[in-house]
Amino acid sequence: MNILIINSGSSSIKYQLLEMPSAKIICLGSIERIGSKEAISSYKTDHVKIEKIYEIKDHKAGLKRITSLLLDSEKGVIKSTDDIDAIGHRVVHGGSSYTKTTLINEEVKNKIKNLSPLAPLHNPANLEGILMAEEIFNTSKQFVVFDTAFHGTIPVKAKQYAIPGELYKEKGIQAYGFHGTSHKYVSEKAIEYLKLKKSKLISIHLGNGCSITAIKDGKSLDHSMGFAPSNGLVMGTRSGDIDHSIIFYMVDTLGYSIDDVKELLNKKSGMLGLTGYNDLRDIESEASKGNNECIIALEMNAYRIKKYIGAYTAIMNGLDAIIFTAGIGENSSLMRQLVCKDMSYFNIHLDDAKNDLRSSTIREINTENSKVKILVIPTNEELEIAKQVYNLIA
Ligand code: ADP
Repeated sequence: MNILIINSGSSSIKYQLLEMPSAKIICLGSIERIGSKEAISSYKTDHVKIEKIYEIKDHKAGLKRITSLLLDSEKGVIKSTDDIDAIGHRVVHGGSSYTKTTLINEEVKNKIKNLSPLAPLHNPANLEGILMAEEIFNTSKQFVVFDTAFHGTIPVKAKQYAIPGELYKEKGIQAYGFHGTSHKYVSEKAIEYLKLKKSKLISIHLGNGCSITAIKDGKSLDHSMGFAPSNGLVMGTRSGDIDHSIIFYMVDTLGYSIDDVKELLNKKSGMLGLTGYNDLRDIESEASKGNNECIIALEMNAYRIKKYIGAYTAIMNGLDAIIFTAGIGENSSLMRQLVCKDMSYFNIHLDDAKNDLRSSTIREINTENSKVKILVIPTNEELEIAKQVYNLIA
């Protein structure tokens, strides 16, 4: 069975075509920096590797580009769109209604749309991906896997906010948690790799969006993002934790409209707001040339992660391993070094030489005497989604 996975991020689409249940990858690729004149399109099969820079205006144009690569008479992997049996879409916010992989119908699409105000960078892009895919792959079954699903185990004391109780009970205002497919995938890999029966893990997903999860015995116990994917760590363009009084001050005293504040906190803050760059590669390169704003932004980013590691070690009363994953977590040895520096009280000791090695497989980068293991685990949200879709169909 051929299952195509479409994973639309705020400014990227990652895709994989897998043969299930063997999990053989027929092709994979991504389009990064959507919305820019220099979007990077990559496509890889057993025989072909293409990377090109194009202007890709939006997610719609991105999906069209992917389809033409799949169908290409020389480099493509399918003859017709009918060759795709099912499509699995990653959708960021499923609210409390969807905690399992779900067949897409009108009701599901409406729910994704209605939840868009809570995930403005993602749910609209995810829905657009679904609508486009339904148009192009009109004979394939379409499924959705929600990022919120893995966090259904977070206890009430961690997910309810200290505001009047009816807002939780009647209006669904609570922390939902995100990047669930990734946190689930890498924590299961860590448990398998370390052969743990009982486990206390902290999974750190650092991409354009960043989040951190406390995972005890395979279950999400607490998570840095909350009601929407905006809380917690410093991200590419999102502020993460912020005192809500700042929002009132900006509106009441500085004259911002609420829409301006929303735009500012979601799209103009984080590393972009601090430095003018949102890609960590640019920020690291500037920092190495002495750009002070970039140096401070990197330190702020790592400092916030350290605080969450401390908090999550406390709530689990211990820690077996921390896991770095996603674009920054997997590739930035500098960010990992800044996070793990001066953590001897927590028994976290980084081996600098191992940290500098690059690899596309799971690796351990702690010293021999480090009680807490430090793992770099490449996330594979696409494989996790394919498994869930296959299991549902099978
Ligand atoms: P998304 O949240 O869109 O899925 P990714 O997980 O692909 O994001 O991460 C994208 C980010 O990873 C980029 O913005 C970039 O900052 C960072 N990144 C990718 N490669 C490197 C690298 N070699 N060094 C540092 N950062 C990197």
